[in-house]
Amino acid sequence: MTNTISILGSTGSIGRQTLDVAEQLGLNVAALTAHSSVELVEEQVRKFRPRLAVMTDEAAARDLVVRLADTETKVLGGTAALEEAAAMPEADTVVTAVVGMVGLKPTLAAIGGKKRIALANKETLVCAGEIVMDAAERSGAEIVPVDSEHSAIFQCLQGCGDRREIKRLILTCSGGPFFGMSRAEAGRMTKKDALKHPNWKMGPKITVDCATLMNKGLEVIEAMHLYRLPLSQVDVVIHRQSIVHSLVEFRDGAVLAQLGTPDMRLPIRYAMTCPERGENPAEPLDLLRCPPLTFTEPDRAVFPCLALAEAAAARGGTACAVLNGANEEAVRLFLLDRIGFYDIFHLTEKAMAALPAVENPTLEEILEADQAAREIVSKEYLA
Ligand code: NDP
Ligand code: MG
Repeated sequence: MTNTISILGSTGSIGRQTLDVAEQLGLNVAALTAHSSVELVEEQVRKFRPRLAVMTDEAAARDLVVRLADTETKVLGGTAALEEAAAMPEADTVVTAVVGMVGLKPTLAAIGGKKRIALANKETLVCAGEIVMDAAERSGAEIVPVDSEHSAIFQCLQGCGDRREIKRLILTCSGGPFFGMSRAEAGRMTKKDALKHPNWKMGPKITVDCATLMNKGLEVIEAMHLYRLPLSQVDVVIHRQSIVHSLVEFRDGAVLAQLGTPDMRLPIRYAMTCPERGENPAEPLDLLRCPPLTFTEPDRAVFPCLALAEAAAARGGTACAVLNGANEEAVRLFLLDRIGFYDIFHLTEKAMAALPAVENPTLEEILEADQAAREIVSKEYLA
């Protein structure tokens, strides 16, 4: 059970909900980090009194130093300081809730410090899953997923001592706001439409990933690394209600699922308390009042990012880092209203076609592949 946490990305959707859970469970907070949301960090520091606060934006860090002059919290600026926050000796658990590949090095720093990693930042596992999982195995650091699907699987696997008993993982997917549309209809959708997720309130990047279904593709890769299973054992089904959070089929035909209302505080709380369970003040799921549960096949023609991610997973090596880096850059452009919905797919596909998949990459090679993918997307966009 967690006693003291550090949160990387405390001002985001997951970060703020983690602080709700921390307050409710009475956890101590050692470090908080954000990029530039200086006012909110000031408020969080005054409430939770961490020893360290990091702003990765240097100007925001300078502002925070002035704002917190009357407190005992130390303030650092810059991306490298995330690693210091991740390795704070007093924290036993590090919640990785930054968005994007920027989470990779701090996650490795937390692993080096033998922390429990409550991992929300899926991009890290997508890009460098083998390196991260091997490092965790070597150091004895425990990685507990926060992503709701992976937490569901983690919960279903409690008590499963032999991974060969797993036949397949079934990830559920809400289908996003454009579910049921034709390609022509989806192609007309803008950033404003993409940001209306039917069931979850999340940060903008993951919300767009949910609209393209890239999020589910990234989650397939995340699951392959967390549970060390091949692509052939990770399936996706559309489940519009987001009540069944994912399932595991075992070799005897038993299928276990975890159900609950769509509330990220449940997987966050479990990542703090597992293998025990904590009290949850929220309304529990009422089976008699919830809508009928439905399951359908994803439409990979209307949502080609899912198939693209599966292709990257099959290719392996640096292909997933290229997929992720290109997608991060394309989503950034989409959120600036500079490209259309299907450009996210086209630009990511171009980067994947242009770059080789380096086998068994080093961390350096992964960072290079990520950079090269981003450059291809920005060059193609300007062309
Ligand atoms: P948000 O956009 O809401 O929050 C992102 C956090 O990261 C903020 O604290 C932000 O600080 C910080 N941040 C942004 N850019 C940088 C940067 N360049 N360097 C350092 N920190 C940065 O994201 P979410 O909370 O929605 O998602 C966080 C992660 O969790 C993602 O990887 C996402 O895929 C995953 N996840 C999220 C779920 C959700 O329900 N939201 C569900 C499952 C997974 P600032 O506020 O200053 O910009
Ligand atoms: Mg998820």
